[in-house]
Amino acid sequence: MNIAIIGAGFTGLAAGYRLAKNGHTVTIFEKDSEPGGLAIGYQEKNWAWSLEKHYHHWFTNDHFILDLAKEVNYPVIIKTPQTNWYVNGKIYQFVSLQAALAFPLLSPLERLRQLFALGLLRINPFWKPLERFKTNDIMPKLMGKKAYEMLWQSILNNKFGKYANDISLAWFWARIATRTQSLAYPEKGFLHFSKHLAHEITKLGGTIHFNTSVEAIEGKNDKIQLGKYGVFDKVLVTLPSFAFVKLTPKLPETYKKQVTNLKGLGAINLVLRLKKPFFTNNTYWLSVADKTSPVMAIVEHTNFMNPKHYDNEHIIYVGNYKSIDDPLFKKTKEELLKLYDPFLKKINPLYKKTLIDYEVFRAPFAQPIIPINYSKMVPSLKTPLANVYLANMQQVYPWDRGTNYAVELGEKVVRLIQADCA
Ligand SMILES: Cc1cc2nc3c(=O)[nH]c(=O)nc-3n(C[C@H](O)[C@H](O)[C@H](O)COP(=O)(O)OP(=O)(O)OC[C@H]3O[C@@H](n4cnc5c(N)ncnc54)[C@H](O)[C@@H]3O)c2cc1C
Repeated sequence: MNIAIIGAGFTGLAAGYRLAKNGHTVTIFEKDSEPGGLAIGYQEKNWAWSLEKHYHHWFTNDHFILDLAKEVNYPVIIKTPQTNWYVNGKIYQFVSLQAALAFPLLSPLERLRQLFALGLLRINPFWKPLERFKTNDIMPKLMGKKAYEMLWQSILNNKFGKYANDISLAWFWARIATRTQSLAYPEKGFLHFSKHLAHEITKLGGTIHFNTSVEAIEGKNDKIQLGKYGVFDKVLVTLPSFAFVKLTPKLPETYKKQVTNLKGLGAINLVLRLKKPFFTNNTYWLSVADKTSPVMAIVEHTNFMNPKHYDNEHIIYVGNYKSIDDPLFKKTKEELLKLYDPFLKKINPLYKKTLIDYEVFRAPFAQPIIPINYSKMVPSLKTPLANVYLANMQQVYPWDRGTNYAVELGEKVVRLIQADCA
């Protein structure tokens, strides 16, 4: 079969690799100059490794992507960096059982109740019955109002903003139930791994057109016309649903409405390159549980991967998720640093003296909103247009989106396409 894939993010790369391996003629169209999509990286001249524009790691139970890395012989590094929380003006360790038991801002009884609630979520294998509840309605009752509001609700507010109150308990369950303390990272960065996958696809006979934006998808007899790029037997679209709908005007109105009603947030990351570490206690990930903070998380990448790969620079991400209509989205890097600076100085008053340079990266669609009963809203992989398939982050459920689930989705849609070919 002659199959086109739109997008060389991890969904498109995983699907392209599997289809090419199974003997199909694969053509991938990618509007960017390099593969990786939301996990794309860049490399300063003096760095040996690439760095993601937005912080990225894997959990050690991210089997789909780890298995794929193994299959294509790509080396993966596993480490257990420190994950900490910023609460009431101080940094606390919270990732291990001992640390959670010693958390001084809650009474011993409150700590035990919180751990019991989190433990209950972790051992419960059934997410479906949870999806009809809102996290904000159930979790304060289960873990106690004080612990929930102090830690988890701030995180939800920071991550989802005006949508925080809508988030389903199934999403919260997935976050608690699956995450590992040890983390994994592809050697040399996600950009090198994506390029390796792209190379594997071409070795299998596939073609990838970079700097090529598909502008139209149209049914033509029982085939699909992709504007000036030709006619294909089947087309896999890996773009967000609203983008798919724009390219495909002849979709039924009810379908367009269904998929464009799904909400999402964009991401903004300010990347700071420093001569010295930002955190003095080796923190990799700092979740900011503070309503007054202008940032959601600070991630010191070089407390996870060795600074020597980045010419001994120390790299932090200052991250936020926001609607694309939020004024923060339009701020320049200078305006963002000015806004974040007082908060950053609370943690490291001298960081600015060691600043080499900084850059801002924005992704307009980065985090789907998962409201209650989302299983009824998930768009199907088959679209109303015959021979056109859709696979994107909005179909990752109940798990939080990630490259691991992009690979799982890519492989799932390939099985469907192949079944349809049979
Ligand atoms: C801030 C942030 C942090 C994250 N952290 C992690 C993490 O720690 N670990 C993890 O595993 N995942 C993480 N993720 C999620 C992960 O990046 C995504 O789940 C995954 O990359 C989605 O892959 P995808 O292929 O489905 O979509 P995308 O990556 O969005 O790929 C779609 C591709 O389509 C291309 N495209 C768009 N329009 C067109 C067009 N008209 N024609 C041709 N090409 C087009 C785009 O350029 C893009 O390359 C994070 C994401 C963000 C934003």
